[in-house]
Amino acid sequence: MPEKVDITEKHQCSVKVWDDRSFSWQCLKPAKVERDGKWYCSIHDPEYIKAKNKAREEEWERKVQARNAGWERDSIARTAYDQCLLINPDNPLAVAENIGAIYEALRYIASCPSVVQGDVIDIAQKAIAKIK
Ligand SMILES: [Zn+2]
Repeated sequence: MPEKVDITEKHQCSVKVWDDRSFSWQCLKPAKVERDGKWYCSIHDPEYIKAKNKAREEEWERKVQARNAGWERDSIARTAYDQCLLINPDNPLAVAENIGAIYEALRYIASCPSVVQGDVIDIAQKAIAKIK
C-alpha cells in the first residue's frame, strides 16, 4: 500500500533511467506513490517491481518443476519399457498392459501361504517388495 499520496501536488518519478546508449536521466513520468520519502511512477514503484519479480520467479519455478516432472516421466517410461522388453522381447506392450494384473496375482499368491508353499511364496513376496 502507498505510504502517502498527495493529490494536490504533482511529483515526478525519482528513478534514474538509462537508454541503450548509456545516457541517463530522471524518469519523466508523473509519480503515483511515495515510498520512504521518494516518489515513483506506477512502473518504477518498488512494490510493483517486487510483485512483478515475485510473479516472474513463481512462473520460472513452475516451468522448472514442469520440466523436471517431464524428465522424471520420461525416465520412468524408458525404465518401464526396458523392463517390459526384458520380460517379453517380442511383445513388451503386452507386459505393460498387464502390470496391474501381474501385481494383483502376486499379491494374491503372497497372501495365501497355506495354499501355496515354499519358494513360490518367497518369490512372490520378493517381487511385490521390489515394486512397492
Ligand atoms: Zn518512473
